Amino acid sequence: MKLELVDAKKWINLFVEKLEKNQTDLNELDTAIGDGDHGTNMKRGAEAITAAFEKKDPENLSDLYKATAFAMIQKVGGASGPLYGTAFLDMSKAVKTDNLELGDLLQIGTDGLKRRGESDTGMKTMIDVWQPVSDALKVNKFDQKVIDNALENVKNLVATKGRASYLEEKSKGHIDPGAQSSAYLFESLIEIMGA
Ligand code: ADP
Ligand code: MG
Repeated sequence: MKLELVDAKKWINLFVEKLEKNQTDLNELDTAIGDGDHGTNMKRGAEAITAAFEKKDPENLSDLYKATAFAMIQKVGGASGPLYGTAFLDMSKAVKTDNLELGDLLQIGTDGLKRRGESDTGMKTMIDVWQPVSDALKVNKFDQKVIDNALENVKNLVATKGRASYLEEKSKGHIDPGAQSSAYLFESLIEIMGA
């Protein structure tokens, strides 16, 4: 399945809505295993995305993902801003000449996260949501269960990257905040795919 511009816009706008609605929950997750700012960071990014789209309505997929990337890089801050920013910037470049299957597109985003974060699956980060979602889309088996399973898995992991890694074994039993914000991104995708 490929996402056309009108649906991709709905996707990002829904993500923005969820970030604004769940700021407190994301901060609480980050308070448990980080510094408590992930919700505030992502809310700033969400507002910046809205402002960018209002300033200039994206005319194609590449512009849409690029504006999203820049808003994240410029306004989110923390570790997550450059990470989300890199994922969306790589996706923006990838769709410049041709649209891609969603699984392939999100794999490019996931590879960007891994490169920028010098990280991989199993380290208790957002990658533990991006990778299984990309894999499921490639074989047309993407649904809410994929996200729920990814969050359950991430909860049981010991963090080896990011702030949560300072807690070592104590990071176990908590959902990673970046994994949760990524879950909102992909729950938004499910909503627009079903529409
Ligand atoms: P900070 O940790 O600087 O306060 P945030 O709280 O906004 O930044 O974001 C934290 C999230 O970033 C984590 O929950 C995790 O998902 C993600 N993260 C942090 N470091 C890495 C990394 N090296 N690779 C992938 N994801 C990471
Ligand atoms: Mg934080």
